[in-house]
Amino acid sequence: MKTLLDAVAVRNKVLQAFEQAEAEEDPSRHRDLLTFILVGAGPTGVEMAAALAVLVRSTLKSEFRRIDPTTARILLVDMAPRVLPTFSEDLSTAAKERLQNLGVEIRLGHAVDHIDADGIIVAGERIASKTVTWTAGVAPSPAGKWLNVETDRAGRVRVQPDLSVPGHREIFVVGDTASLDQDGKPLPGVAQVALQQGRYAGKLIHRRIVGGATPKPFKYFDKGNMAVVGKGFAVLQTGKIHLSGFFAWLAWAAVHLQFLATSSLRVSVFVQWVWTYITGQRGSRLILNLHGSDKGPRSAEAPIGAAAVTK
Ligand SMILES: Cc1cc2nc3c(=O)[nH]c(=O)nc-3n(C[C@H](O)[C@H](O)[C@H](O)COP(=O)(O)OP(=O)(O)OC[C@H]3O[C@@H](n4cnc5c(N)ncnc54)[C@H](O)[C@@H]3O)c2cc1C
Repeated sequence: MKTLLDAVAVRNKVLQAFEQAEAEEDPSRHRDLLTFILVGAGPTGVEMAAALAVLVRSTLKSEFRRIDPTTARILLVDMAPRVLPTFSEDLSTAAKERLQNLGVEIRLGHAVDHIDADGIIVAGERIASKTVTWTAGVAPSPAGKWLNVETDRAGRVRVQPDLSVPGHREIFVVGDTASLDQDGKPLPGVAQVALQQGRYAGKLIHRRIVGGATPKPFKYFDKGNMAVVGKGFAVLQTGKIHLSGFFAWLAWAAVHLQFLATSSLRVSVFVQWVWTYITGQRGSRLILNLHGSDKGPRSAEAPIGAAAVTK
């Protein structure tokens, strides 16, 4: 999931599972249709599991006649021993407890061996589900193959400390496609790293053109990490500060507003969030056909703006 259209497609798939269950005469098939599995308990899996839990327990609660959406099973599976493994242990525990309170089932310590149209196999057990979402990482671009240079296990290009490709001081690779260790650990595939690396590479190229001094090797400055776990709850880690709960969620909201492109957008999103928070009303029930077909954004039955306000 990378774009707004991808996000809408995922939400459509979830909503359609409820519609199918409602139309399904055989109640024994309801279980598979109303079981949602997320593979990967990093920030994406945790945030999505919590959002799904809120969707089924409150937004969709009284939307159907034959099925009870609140009986939907949401399963978060990861081979790591804890959720949010890149956060500190206390924040992992807080997020796990919060997810459990929201009704999310968590299975840790076992890798998923197989995924097919009928569900998954984990630790030798088949779990039936019609909606399995992969939240365990994305594949990088094939730039490493094009360049025919060394990559890490995930296929990211191993770069020099100045972000250039070994043997090619004129080629730079930054962001999700680059692999660079700092303090003995690979830098994470997050926006902060991509932004800082982009700025660094730009500066270095500029200095080369104007004949200035070569900048020091790239050093990532970690401003902190956040993950939102349902309505009014987030975890936040920055330096020695570890925060979970409502105040972390406020900080999360403030940071996200701050990074919106224009002040008018900030104001409109803020007003919309406050309204949604107070009234609990959301447009999350709309199934939008933004693709027209499975391939690419051709025609839109609803304008893209409608999708943007229904997050
Ligand atoms: C679901 C999800 C949630 C995330 N949440 C967070 C988060 O909360 N916080 C955070 O910090 N990070 C998050 N990330 C990670 C973050 O999105 C990435 O680390 C960041 O976008 C990397 O920036 P980038 O410029 O390297 O790559 P991208 O942002 O992926 O940009 C690459 C661009 O190149 C274009 N492109 C690709 N191939 C070609 C080609 N052949 N020719 C021309 N153009 C091409 C793509 O269309 C895209 O526009 C999330 C990622 C995902 C998938």
